[in-house]
Amino acid sequence: MKKKIGIMGGSFDPVHSGHIGLAEDALREAGLDCVILIPTAVQPFKQDAKAADGNHRLNMLKLAAENNERFIVSDYELCNKGISYTYLTMRAMQQEADNACPDGADLYFITGTDSFLKIDTWMNGEELLTNYGYIVGTRPGYRQDELEEFMDFVREEYGTYVINLSRVQLDVSSTEIRERIKSGLSISNFVPPAVERYIKENELYI
Ligand code: NAP
Repeated sequence: MKKKIGIMGGSFDPVHSGHIGLAEDALREAGLDCVILIPTAVQPFKQDAKAADGNHRLNMLKLAAENNERFIVSDYELCNKGISYTYLTMRAMQQEADNACPDGADLYFITGTDSFLKIDTWMNGEELLTNYGYIVGTRPGYRQDELEEFMDFVREEYGTYVINLSRVQLDVSSTEIRERIKSGLSISNFVPPAVERYIKENELYI
């Protein structure tokens, strides 16, 4: 039987419970076999932003993913350095999955609403929307009408398979977490305990 593999790319600077909630819901609701979490080397739309070191972001992601045996953390983009274009990563993941799975595999990119609404402006957006499925999550109060309109558009225009997850995720962003740390506020409601410990031990974002 064909495998169903979720791919979730992100800056993960740092990873938080909104990211993990999104990946867990995608796994369950879409009946995926596994989710591969991939931290970016350089996010194409954040090339001027200074992100935390890739090894730290990778280590935090591994800690956040360790309780779910269906989560796999990949250093694919970090090892490739350069700009992390999603179409290149998806091509590589598809090839790897086809080699590993005798009956082949369908790939589903897991994403939040903001990113998904811009996906047709990404490098080779048409290829992305034609070749892969999409599982889209939302945060409280999040552009639902715009999302539904765009989902209809890509289904019609590219034949894209896309679903919107039923649960709204925790209202948190990596930016907010970095700001809270700078202001000396607690982040324990927003990140897994092991990630909070790692941030403290390595004096990140201060
Ligand atoms: P990020 O900030 O770490 O977020 C990762 C994903 O989690 C995003 O889709 C984000 O949705 C979602 N998310 C974050 N907090 C959430 C919450 N509280 N509830 C629900 N969803 C939440 O990563 P990023 O910098 O946006 O990058 C996302 C991916 O897009 C990366 O793989 C990047 O390489 C790719 N990308 C590719 C191109 C390209 O190929 N040209 C261009 C841009 C981005 P939101 O988008 O809604 O924040």
